[in-house]
Amino acid sequence: MKGVKRRDFLKLSGTTLIGLTMGSAALRAHAKEILTTENQAAQALKYTPSSTVEGANCANCMYVQGKEGDEHRPCMLFPNHLVNAKGWCSGWVKRPN
Ligand code: SF4
Repeated sequence: MKGVKRRDFLKLSGTTLIGLTMGSAALRAHAKEILTTENQAAQALKYTPSSTVEGANCANCMYVQGKEGDEHRPCMLFPNHLVNAKGWCSGWVKRPN
């Protein structure tokens, strides 16, 4: 009887762990939406996913985060979103070399 309870506990623990892992992954995926020009904050900062400013884009901005070379990267000015590496907004500041 005691062994069965322990087995049930282990099954439940495993299921709970899988549920928590999947829930966490879903939250992370939700937390990093690609920023669009529909976003009010993006509009306020004149964000565009395709920069028209010579030599200035998200990839060389000091506020961009994430991995060099990724098409979409986190930005400190737009939490929970990913910006296009070729994008731009009025918050752009050249990343120091
Ligand atoms: S601050 Fe603006 S230009 Fe800089 S990475 Fe973020 S969205 Fe791009």
